[in-house]
Amino acid sequence: MQDLVRNLLADLGEDPDREGLLNTPRRVEKALRFLTSGYAADIDQVLNNALFTVDYSEMVIVKDIDFYSLCEHHLLPFFGKCHVAYLPSNRVIGLSKIPRIVDVFSRRLQVQERLTSQIADTISEKIAPLGVAVVVEATHLCMSMRGVEKQNSFAVTSSMLGTFRSDARTRMEFLELIKLRSGAALRSSAATAQACAEE
Ligand SMILES: [Zn+2]
Repeated sequence: MQDLVRNLLADLGEDPDREGLLNTPRRVEKALRFLTSGYAADIDQVLNNALFTVDYSEMVIVKDIDFYSLCEHHLLPFFGKCHVAYLPSNRVIGLSKIPRIVDVFSRRLQVQERLTSQIADTISEKIAPLGVAVVVEATHLCMSMRGVEKQNSFAVTSSMLGTFRSDARTRMEFLELIKLRSGAALRSSAATAQACAEE
């Protein structure tokens, strides 16, 4: 990878041998390995010993989870907040594990819509709750830095499963609790439009 980065620097018109860039290929590789470390993560290992059987049926919410990801179209960051809720059937996940699940899927090349549904699907799969809701609010540097469609550089995506999909009151309760940034329209993860424009 370091050779590729050296070539990339040269291709950009830079001198890869000047002092400030000498260690850049090594740093870029290290950074990219970390930012894509979610590929090597095993979700069962992440959740190890943190699934519990309980008699609890109230909504569990973890909001304002910071995340950083890379858009797969431009390899540029998109980042923001992730809000997760579920209604337990008879299993719960240790609260500290929810941000870890977000890390596993955000540390990959992503599109915001897929990131949103992968988090929801994983929770649904692992504890079979009555419902799962995930909302992701993110700023896309591939949009804002390049000055394209500035109004769309901030996007909100959601994935609603089970009771959060079928019961408007449950869904509204969740949306009320997370209080989205005003004016941001909720975009379903099933929508064909993409948060990051592909041009
Ligand atoms: Zn992009």
